[in-house]
Amino acid sequence: MLTENFVREMKKTIEEVRPLSSSGNVADYIPALKKSDPSIVACSIFTKDGACHRFGDVGTTFTIQSVSKVLTLALAIEDHGKEYVFERVGMEPTGDPYYSMARLELTDQSKPLNPMINAGALTITSMIKGNTKEEKFERILHFIRELADDEDITYNKDVAQSEYDTTDKNRALAYYLKANNILEGDIDEVIDIYTKQCSIEMSCCHLARIGQVLGNRGYSTLHERELVSPRIAQLVKTFMVTCGMYNSSGQLAIEAGIPSKSGVSGAILGTLPGGIGIGIYSPALDEKGNSVVGIELLKRISQNYDLSIF
Ligand code: GLU
Repeated sequence: MLTENFVREMKKTIEEVRPLSSSGNVADYIPALKKSDPSIVACSIFTKDGACHRFGDVGTTFTIQSVSKVLTLALAIEDHGKEYVFERVGMEPTGDPYYSMARLELTDQSKPLNPMINAGALTITSMIKGNTKEEKFERILHFIRELADDEDITYNKDVAQSEYDTTDKNRALAYYLKANNILEGDIDEVIDIYTKQCSIEMSCCHLARIGQVLGNRGYSTLHERELVSPRIAQLVKTFMVTCGMYNSSGQLAIEAGIPSKSGVSGAILGTLPGGIGIGIYSPALDEKGNSVVGIELLKRISQNYDLSIF
């Protein structure tokens, strides 16, 4: 699909959607995220010809927040196998907010409904193998560096500390899950690793490279080898479709049909069959917690190039 036309059209689309950012708000429940500039719009597309095309405010970096949940899920399944993981975390979407605790009391053995809500994601993080918390986080970081093809990727210490100091809801979830024998291990350690994984910092091009690997059934064209097994890539992409975009997942599946995962920083990871990867960053969020501009961009990219997987 890549021609000069595509580049020209994408540049035009970015400028058309940019004004929408004024209708959203940056996340403020993590104090460090309040500093984000709501007018930023950046997008990268990794195309089948192996190039990463950048549009908008190129060079911007951001923390990936909930986008990390997809990647720790893949690693936890690599570590333990599918049976172990899904004995503890469910596979069903939920219409509740990502930090919700309400349903934990109603579900079978307090099992979180899926790995994309915080209760599920905290449980997944607690499964990552390693002898110390440092080793566990290093494994997550190493995996993400490989997927994004950049050894220099690291986490933003200010954002991690800011969330660690204020993340009482996640602590509450983790304690509740531990009390019900779902989450194992030390709570401070799980919160420390989780807040660091959410604070891993990258650019849209990195996200697009990750999308390329998932879209290519786990095979990285940059490394010329498989980084995730095809079965695990398929599994995490299915979660991206059913619950990757908070309570807008159903609507986005209909209107864009691009498996995606968003984070409260305004980041979105998109992936398409054949190894097309999409990375978007625009921090002004709608009331469901998705980037306002990001959602519109996904819809337009899908419609303009007929990319829905359905
Ligand atoms: N670190 C954030 C939290 O747990 C991630 C939430 C998100 O991006 O959805 O609150």
